[in-house]
Amino acid sequence: MEIMEEVRKRVFRFGSKSADGDSTMRNLLGGKGANLAEMSAIGIPVPPGFTITTEVCTEYNKLGEEATLKLIRKDVEQAIANIEKIMDTEFGNSENPLLISVRSGARVSMPGMMDTVLNLGLNDDVVKGLAAKTKNDRFAWDSYRRFIQMYGGVVLGMKPESKDDIDPFEEIMEHLKEKREIELDTQFTVQDLKDLVYDFKDIVKKRTGHDFPTDPWQQLWGAIIAVFNSWNGDRALYYRKMHGYPADWGTAVNVQAMVYGNMGDSSGTGVCFTRDAGTGENVFNGEYLINAQGEDVVAGVRTPRQITTLGSKRWAELAKINENERLVTYPSLEELMPTIYKELHGYQEKLEKHYRDMQDMEFTIQEGKLWILQTRNGKRTGAAMVKITMDLLKEGLIDEKEAILSIEPTKLDELLHPVFDTKALKRAHVIAQGLPASPGAATGQIVFFADEAHKFRHSILTRIETSPEDLEGMNIAKGILTARGGMTSHAAVVARGMGKCCISGAGALKISYKRRTLTVDGKVYHEGDWISLNGSTGNIIEGKVATSEPELSGEFGEIMKLADKYGTMEVRTNADSPKDAKVARNFGAKGIGLARTEHMFFEVDRIKTMREMILADTVKGRKHALEDLLPMQRKDFEGIFEAMDGHPVTIRLLDPPLHEFVPHQLATQKELAEDMHISLLAVKNKVAELQEFNPMLGHRGCRLGNTYPEITEMQTRAIIEAALNLKEKGIVSKPEIMVPLVGTLSEFMEQEKVIRETANKVFEEYEDTIDYLVGTMIEVPRAALMADSIAERADFFSFGTNDLTQMAFGYSRDDAGKFLPIYLEKGILTADPFEVLDQKGVGQLVKMGTERGRSTKPDLKVGICGEHGGEPSSVEFCYATGMNYVSCSPFRVPIARVAAAQAVLKAGS
Ligand code: PEP
Ligand code: MG
Repeated sequence: MEIMEEVRKRVFRFGSKSADGDSTMRNLLGGKGANLAEMSAIGIPVPPGFTITTEVCTEYNKLGEEATLKLIRKDVEQAIANIEKIMDTEFGNSENPLLISVRSGARVSMPGMMDTVLNLGLNDDVVKGLAAKTKNDRFAWDSYRRFIQMYGGVVLGMKPESKDDIDPFEEIMEHLKEKREIELDTQFTVQDLKDLVYDFKDIVKKRTGHDFPTDPWQQLWGAIIAVFNSWNGDRALYYRKMHGYPADWGTAVNVQAMVYGNMGDSSGTGVCFTRDAGTGENVFNGEYLINAQGEDVVAGVRTPRQITTLGSKRWAELAKINENERLVTYPSLEELMPTIYKELHGYQEKLEKHYRDMQDMEFTIQEGKLWILQTRNGKRTGAAMVKITMDLLKEGLIDEKEAILSIEPTKLDELLHPVFDTKALKRAHVIAQGLPASPGAATGQIVFFADEAHKFRHSILTRIETSPEDLEGMNIAKGILTARGGMTSHAAVVARGMGKCCISGAGALKISYKRRTLTVDGKVYHEGDWISLNGSTGNIIEGKVATSEPELSGEFGEIMKLADKYGTMEVRTNADSPKDAKVARNFGAKGIGLARTEHMFFEVDRIKTMREMILADTVKGRKHALEDLLPMQRKDFEGIFEAMDGHPVTIRLLDPPLHEFVPHQLATQKELAEDMHISLLAVKNKVAELQEFNPMLGHRGCRLGNTYPEITEMQTRAIIEAALNLKEKGIVSKPEIMVPLVGTLSEFMEQEKVIRETANKVFEEYEDTIDYLVGTMIEVPRAALMADSIAERADFFSFGTNDLTQMAFGYSRDDAGKFLPIYLEKGILTADPFEVLDQKGVGQLVKMGTERGRSTKPDLKVGICGEHGGEPSSVEFCYATGMNYVSCSPFRVPIARVAAAQAVLKAGS
């Protein structure tokens, strides 16, 4: 063990067209580190540096600071020497200084969720050397004040203490601006910057009790540790939880030579995408700023310019800027620096071909020399994902299997949701225009603070600009609107990643956090007022706008076709009405895996008859009410069978406890008593009688059917009659009658007997027959254990993993909301087991149930109809278990189809 520890490589260098690592080492070097190494090796000009591995982060979490630094100190010192050699500079040398950046980098990109320190290595001596060397006092002192500000915040913890508090460094800058009667950072004189540095160091001493560290090495060790700590910071924790990234992945630390975009007019910095991240269109695009550092572009304080002339013209049209003004104030990089642009264009082509995916790149131009700071697979909307994937396939960059595997199934959801109704849009009052940062339609009530996004059911988070702290609120809000920032601002990038509608850079908005108002052209909107965002055009609209069904693109259909080519498991849907069944058919469902018949009884005109049935004291009384329900049920089933067009339809017999159907409020109880001509007391007594201590484990499922067989009789009759009626019209139906909550063979057999006898009776009456199956849900753990015996009689199994999870964990579905969030927060559970199938535990019951069932009946049809049937990782598990089908809600059918194809491809690879 000791020896192994010694040989473990913890520091990987890159630069000058060579590298220790490559892009296959993402887990160890993090996405950014692996890409930097790879880029360096293929000849892209990246500033030299090194990566401290993610394993060291995990070691740090176990061993603490001192022991960890001991493990890496020597390697880091040598790696810094290597950078010094390549850049011909020296770390800490005041005449020829090397300055460095220290950044995080997990195995997957977590934009803005962890910390970064730039300009590290500056102190009172080095700043003078830097000024002399660059002959640019302003640049040197500006870098120094930025460094203290960033280091102070990230490493020394000098951040605003509350929402109303302001950043201590910003406060000092604001005071100075007031005193000097200036508005912009760029108006500070060199003396101002020197004063700021002095005041910054002073506040650091006051707040932390220590001097700001002047030794560059001390600065470096502090920054490395701070980046490791940011893996467990609030933002990263929330992001990891949201995406299910485990704690032991850790983050790498990337240390790199600084290059400067703020060294005058031949310098600049920018962000670019090889394709449009919003629509997927194959156009190179991005934004840049002259004489600026990277965070200036992302923070959205200055209005960035477009990289390409095409993009610049499109932007100017939206911003209503004429061609002359555009050329003078906002020229494209293509127009301003054609040679640099050409070089950048060459790299974007090379990188996209190399990584065979859309790239999101950051670059800096330092005095006419182009450096690529990073590249990664770009975040994109669901629509862009579909288009880019199909385009890459057609361009021959990826093959069909890769195309399917590159789809993030859950992102397809974005494409399936309503868009603004075109007629309603024509009447809409557009109050302002911003940048179409992330497409989609959102209507909601204005909130101004991320932590208040939950105030309304539909909220629009409206900010001057967003920051990583706002992530949770952005996730809750229906849409995001910012007054500042471009297409690559924090709001835009994060919103696209979330698939959330976003408009950024709407300069006409005047937002006052203090007054909680939004003012446009003199009209004031308050918190709670309704607005609508059209993320595809950038239009901000007053009030609510009606929505309509989306139109699915040709590429969407092509992806689905591909999925069906490779997927082997059938995808069915859970649908209780002809309308849902039709939606699901349009999404490609090959049948219904679960029609919950109880939902049909909740409709206003039926609930009364249902209540009469429940309140009846005699079998005769019950049968009478059931007779009234029969035609309604039959009509429902006819509609569903017709919509499913010859595909199998699994209909589950009545499941929920009866008390769910009876009224609990006095007024409705009185109404019912009058309707039924019985006393209020009689109604009240019956309601009390039906009350259960533990309804989830109570009188429900087949326990109902076995105590009131006339219900099963009526439902079977409705199903069989519906199928026979359709047969007369030449329509094929394939009913599969499903008994819920079975735990013993005899429970099932009792119900089966009623079903078969009733079906035979109907066949005799109609003098005709149809084929039908009688199967069971496997949702009580005992059923999974006894599956071999139950399979003797059951024609099929369908795993009800909602109840199976409930009963395996012993977590009531009705009450788990009280403790599950805390379990997830504390990491007691890594995912909500009602959302993501607990493969290790509940999965054993599923596997065992399937195997035991098939030991009796080798070709037993097995499926799943719990919520997990549309969750990609659970779908993969169902495939591995050998299921014939999964069934999920209509809108998840496309997701399940892709997940089913991915399951096959992953298993085969
Ligand atoms: C289940 O338990 O998984 C199921 C599908 O049935 P329900 O959710 O209706 O109880
Ligand atoms: Mg159930």
